[in-house]
Amino acid sequence: MIRISVTSKLDGIRSWSLQAIDTCPGSISSPGVLVDACKGCYATTGNYRFPNVKAPRLENGQDWQRLDWVDDMVKELDSDRYFRWFDSGDVYTLGLAEKILEVMQRTPWVKHWLPTRMHKFPKFALVFREMQNLENVRVRFSSDSINGEYIAGLHGSVIVAAADTLPDDHVTLCKAYENAGKCSGCRACYSKDVDVIAYPAHGKTMLKIIRINKA
Ligand code: SF4
Repeated sequence: MIRISVTSKLDGIRSWSLQAIDTCPGSISSPGVLVDACKGCYATTGNYRFPNVKAPRLENGQDWQRLDWVDDMVKELDSDRYFRWFDSGDVYTLGLAEKILEVMQRTPWVKHWLPTRMHKFPKFALVFREMQNLENVRVRFSSDSINGEYIAGLHGSVIVAAADTLPDDHVTLCKAYENAGKCSGCRACYSKDVDVIAYPAHGKTMLKIIRINKA
């Protein structure tokens, strides 16, 4: 059964998600150590710790392996115009990436946004290229930095320490913080015309990591 999640930030736009960290091999910098951007991961705190929030993410980890999962996802997206993959978790295996690609190909009426760190693994290059070549898909490779460092032409998003610390003019600031943490009609993350989005750091853990890195 397809289990969809809806986060308050995204104006009711729906997501399909997995359990954070367990499905995020791109979040590991060395054994037992997360990259800076994942150290304060919102998907491991708050509501995300509750069993009723974890359960669908754990179930999805099994469910996508069904033979008719792609058909069911295509039906599920019948009325959606925007869709965000992974409000938690990542596309941790090539088999899942290939199935998501097929869902994207068969739902041209939906604008898909897929944030990921799996670009670190070369075997995903082809499937991400095929996704990115679709008119209705924006794959955003996430930078590991929390200080606005990104590689032009590679990364599609980065965390910045504060809204007034953008690295350069090519980066578009996420202004959800001006709208009570909600997108409020902005759809920049889904747009092919927006190269890099900067998300201001938030949350106690993330701000603490920034302070430690500066010390
Ligand atoms: S950049 Fe726009 S679409 Fe992306 S998270 Fe921020 S407000 Fe939402």
